[in-house]
Amino acid sequence: MKIWLDGGLQDIESARVSVFDHGLTVGDGIFETVKAVDGRPFALSRHLDRLTRSARGLGLPDPDLDEVRRACAAVLEANPMPLGRLRITYTGGHGPLGSDRGDHGPTLVVALGGTTRRPDSTAVITVPWTRNERGALAGLKTTSYAENVVALARARERGASEALFGNTVGQLCEGTGSNVFVVLDGELHTPPLASGCLAGITRALAVEWTGAKETDLPLDVLGRAEEVFLTSTLRDVQAVHRVDDRELPGAPGPVTAKAMRIFEERSGADLDP
Ligand code: PLP
Repeated sequence: MKIWLDGGLQDIESARVSVFDHGLTVGDGIFETVKAVDGRPFALSRHLDRLTRSARGLGLPDPDLDEVRRACAAVLEANPMPLGRLRITYTGGHGPLGSDRGDHGPTLVVALGGTTRRPDSTAVITVPWTRNERGALAGLKTTSYAENVVALARARERGASEALFGNTVGQLCEGTGSNVFVVLDGELHTPPLASGCLAGITRALAVEWTGAKETDLPLDVLGRAEEVFLTSTLRDVQAVHRVDDRELPGAPGPVTAKAMRIFEERSGADLDP
């Protein structure tokens, strides 16, 4: 396996970053996960726009997007696989312990992992912890993911694959690694970005392609929604058949099934030639 580090391809076994890299010591980093089908990245431009937005939000220098594109192409070429996930990690770099930011310039790593198609439906739980929609990191895709790790572990303990968060004012927000959509009276809704959720690339495409409304939704909407689904780069559109103890028999319901179909058809096209 070859990864991109320090401006070129390296063997994963010998690639090294500093133990004082600020991405490691304080989570001062950002990332993107990009689906790659037959060696072609899906919606790469949208991911790179978000990478730049996240960098600016964290006060990191803008990433060199030409280098990131070259890195993605080189890593995909060096590690052929039918369905993969590119992982772009960009951190503040390394510096002496206690320094505010690395003084050797940012670290860019691009790696590729395998992935498999997710089942058509899944179980989710809600967790009591909240997303802070007014926090400094709201909407940024940072490597400070520990809260998601904790929530996901709770989900796994309960036989679910995702945990959903509300925000500080009790509204539905997002999952640990996905956005959420609900059907109410036959209409499709998803929380607005102001809820503190990540501006998911799959979410944006699903909104564009289905006309879903962006609506403030109380967390308890999950107790009465006719259908619920998740969106993410690795799940695409995935129906939810259980929320906590509430079963949603027949998932995917008609609205979800239509969204899945539309996504399947349109995401086959090369969004990023
Ligand atoms: N929300 C969070 C917190 C995420 O980490 C992710 C993806 O990793 C998403 C939503 C979905 O975003 P995307 O569709 O761009 O993968």
